[in-house]
Amino acid sequence: MLDHDVRNWLISAGFMDVPRRAETDKAPRRIPRDLEGLIEAPLLPVRDTVLFPHMVTPLLVGRDRSVQAAEAAEQTQGPLVVVAQRDQESEDPLPEAVYSIGTVVSVVRSLRMPDGTTSVLTQGEHRAEIVEFTQTEPYYRVRVRPVYEPTERPPATEALMRAVLALFEKVIRLNRSLPENAYVFAMNVDEPGWLADLVASAIDLDVPERQELLEMFDPTTRLQRLSILLAKQLDVLELEDHIHTQVQHEVDKSQREFYLREQMKAIQTELGEGDIHTQETNTLRQKIAEKGLSDEVREKAEKELERLAGMPPMSPEAGIIRTYLDWLLELPWGITSEDNLDVNHAAEVLDARHHGLPKAKERILEYIAVRTLRVAEGTLRVRSPILCFVGPPGTGKTSLGKSIAEALGRKFVRVSLGGIRDEAEIRGHRRTYIGALPGRIIQTMRRAETVNPLFMLDEIDKLGNDFQGDPSAALLEVLDPEQNFAFSDHYLEVPYDLSKVLFVTTANWMDPIPPALRDRMEVIEFPGYIEEEKLAIAQSFLIPRQLEEHGLKPEQLAFSEKAIRSLIREYTYEAGVRNLEREIANVCRKTARRVAEGKPIRRNVTPAAVTKFLGPPKFDFGVAEEQDQIGAATGVAVTDAGGDLQPIEVTLMEGKGMLLITGQLGEVMQESAQAAMSYTRSHARQLGLDARVFEKTDIHIHAPEGAVPKDGPSAGVTIVSALVSAFTHRPVRRDVAMTGEITLRGRVLPIGGLKEKVLAAHRAGLKTMILPKKNKKDMVEIPKRVLRDLEFVLVDHVDDVLKTALLPPIEKPRSVRKRVAKKAGNTKSAKRAKGTKK
Ligand code: ADP
Repeated sequence: MLDHDVRNWLISAGFMDVPRRAETDKAPRRIPRDLEGLIEAPLLPVRDTVLFPHMVTPLLVGRDRSVQAAEAAEQTQGPLVVVAQRDQESEDPLPEAVYSIGTVVSVVRSLRMPDGTTSVLTQGEHRAEIVEFTQTEPYYRVRVRPVYEPTERPPATEALMRAVLALFEKVIRLNRSLPENAYVFAMNVDEPGWLADLVASAIDLDVPERQELLEMFDPTTRLQRLSILLAKQLDVLELEDHIHTQVQHEVDKSQREFYLREQMKAIQTELGEGDIHTQETNTLRQKIAEKGLSDEVREKAEKELERLAGMPPMSPEAGIIRTYLDWLLELPWGITSEDNLDVNHAAEVLDARHHGLPKAKERILEYIAVRTLRVAEGTLRVRSPILCFVGPPGTGKTSLGKSIAEALGRKFVRVSLGGIRDEAEIRGHRRTYIGALPGRIIQTMRRAETVNPLFMLDEIDKLGNDFQGDPSAALLEVLDPEQNFAFSDHYLEVPYDLSKVLFVTTANWMDPIPPALRDRMEVIEFPGYIEEEKLAIAQSFLIPRQLEEHGLKPEQLAFSEKAIRSLIREYTYEAGVRNLEREIANVCRKTARRVAEGKPIRRNVTPAAVTKFLGPPKFDFGVAEEQDQIGAATGVAVTDAGGDLQPIEVTLMEGKGMLLITGQLGEVMQESAQAAMSYTRSHARQLGLDARVFEKTDIHIHAPEGAVPKDGPSAGVTIVSALVSAFTHRPVRRDVAMTGEITLRGRVLPIGGLKEKVLAAHRAGLKTMILPKKNKKDMVEIPKRVLRDLEFVLVDHVDDVLKTALLPPIEKPRSVRKRVAKKAGNTKSAKRAKGTKK
C-alpha cells in the first residue's frame, strides 16, 4: 500500500490526482493505440502491491529488467503497464507468474537513487488486460487491451457509494494509521469506480484481495465487494479499539494513583508532618534495636532497612522490603514463656479435661517429670520428644494437645498439613516471587508469639508429594533436633530456632507416613472409644459444655442415660465423639430456641424426645431384626474414621464360569477374592459340591459402598464365607463379624488393626467375632467390656470359619440384601469419612 506520509507529501506537492467531476471521455489523452485499439508498452511486474487507476504511486524499482522497462517508458514518454506478481518471492517472474490484469500508468518522474535503485512516480490511468508478450529481453513488452469504466450508472450504485463511504469513515476513525483527509477525498469523488479504487488503495488489504478488486470491471460489483471487506475490517478494528481502551484505562489509573500519592506527600510536608519515609525508617530502626535479635538477624534487618531508606517510598520494591521487615520483626525472637513443671498440676488439668486416655496422659506426665529433674540439675537443653497422636477423628487428639499446652503454661498453635504438596508451603517462597510469603511453619510461629509453644502439626498422614518438591523432607528438618535450631525458610533468609518448640503431630493412621518421619516420632494411639467411654465423656464433658455454650442450665435440660445411648447407637456411627457432640448440640439448640420463643420445654431428654428432636434414627444397631442371608457375610475394615463393617456379597448366575469383582477393590483385595475362589473350587467335594457347577456359573463378588476404595488382604475369610454360602445355600450368621487373610490351602493368617476392627464390630452391636488365632497376642489391647460383650472365635483354618459362620443349608437361595443403611440418602456411607478400607 502507498505509504501515507508519501501520499500526504504528494497531495501537498500537487502530484496526487485531485478528485474531479466525472469526465465523459475516459480514454487517456496521451496514450497511442494501434488499429485494434490495443496499447503496446513496457511491462513492470511488482511485488506486494496492486496499482489502481487514478492513484499516484511511487515505486522503488531494483531489478534490472524493471529498471530498463521504466527507463524505456520515461524516455519515450509513453505508458507503462504495471501488474502484480502471483508469486511474491520470484525475483525474475516469467510471463505466467504475473496476473493478466494490470494497470496502465504514465511515469510522472523517475529518480536514480544512490543505492542503484530507481524511484518511479507513477500516475494510474486505467485497467488493462494483457493480450500478448511482444518482447522478453532485455525487458518485457506487452500488448494490452484497455478497460474503461462504463459511463452508465444504475440507481442502486448511489446507495452503495454512500454505504461504502460511511464504512470508510468509521474505518478511518478507528485505524489511526490512515490519513483523515483520505475520507475528504473520497467524499468528493462521485464516480463509483473511482471511489472504489480510491478506498481500495487506501485501506489495508493483501495482494490477492486487491487484485480481485482490480479484476472487477463493473464498479457496482467492485463496491459491493469492497463494502464486505470494509465491514470485516471494521469488526477487527472495533475489537482492537475495545482492548486498547481497556489497557489505556489501566494505565490511566496507575498514573492517577501516582499523581495522588505525590500530592499526598506534598500535603503532608505542608502540614509539617515531615517526611514520612524518614519517620518510617526511624521507627523501624528503633524496633530493630529493641527486638533483641541475634547478630546475624540484626545485620540482615539493618541491611534491608538501608536499602529501603535509599528507595523511592512508593516503589513496588520498597513495598516488598517493608513486608519482609514486618515479618522479621513480628516473629518471636527469644521470647519464651515459662514452663509450669508441676506434675500434679498437669495431672489435674489433663484429668479435668479428658476422660480416659491413660497412655497419652502418662506419657505427658513423664515428660514433664523428666524436664523438672533436668532443670533442677541445671541441664539447659532438654530434647523435646515429638509425639504423634494416631487415631480416628473425634478421639480427642487436638483437645488433648490443647490441654497439654495449658498444663505446661505454653501457647498452643496448630497447622494442618493435609493436602500440602509443595515444599514451598512449608518452607516459604523466595522473595523474588511476586506475593512471596514465609512458609506455614514460620507463619505459625508468628502467631505463637513465643519460641516455645506447643505446635500441633495436624494430618501428617495427608502430606502429599510431587514435582514441586517433597514437603516431608522439609518437615524432617523441622522435627529433627539436630537441625531445627537453625530452620531455614526461603523467604526469611535467616535461620530460625525451632528447638524449643514442643511438636505434637496427629494422623488418622500410620501407614502413609514416610518411614524417616515415623522414626522421629513417638506414637501414642487413640484407638477410639467404646460405648461406655462415650457415655462417660458425654455425661462429664460434652453435655455440660454444650449446655453452657447454648446458655442453658442443667435444671432446664437433662439427658437420660438411655437417651445418650440412643444418640450413640442410632444417631452416630463413629470411633470418636465428634458427631455425638454435634447431635447433643443439636438438641441443645432446639431447646434454646424454644426457651427464647417462650414455649414450654421438657427437662428430661428421653429416647423418644431424641427422636422428636432429631428425626428417625439414622443407623441400625445390632442385628436382631436382620435375617441370616445366603451369599452375604460381614467383614470388618480399618478406615480413616477408625474401624467399620465391610459386608461382602456374592451372587451366582447361570453362565460360563466368569468371575466379576466390583466395589472398587484394590489389587490385594482382588487377589484375596481370587484365592477365595480357588480355595472353594479345590475343596468342592469336601463342601459337598459337584465340581462341574463352577463351569456353568458366573460369579459376582461385590463389596457394597462401591464409591469407597477398599484394599488389604483381611477380607479373605469374609469372601470365602460368602462364596461357600452362595454355592451351598447355607446362610451366613448375621451376628458374626470376621477378619483374616487366607492362603490357597485354607490357612487363616493374622491381620493388622485388630483393635479398631473389634471395636467396630462391638459398636455395630454384633455378637460373635472370628479372628485369626495368630492375633491372640494383640487381644490384650481390647477393653474388658468388649471382651465381655463379644464372643471371640480364634481360628487357624477356613474350616473353622465356615463351621462358626454358616448355618445348615436351606432349599432356595434368597436375594441378597444390604445390611446397615436404613434408607437412601441417610446411609452410613454418607455420614462417614471416606478412606481406603483395609
Ligand atoms: P480429634 O482431634 O481427634 O479429631 P478432637 O480433639 O477435636 O478430636 O475431639 C472432638 C471433641 O471430642 C472435642 O470437643 C473433645 O473435647 C471431645 N473429646 C474427645 N475425647 C474426649 C475425652 N477423652 N474426654 C473429653 N472430651 C473428649
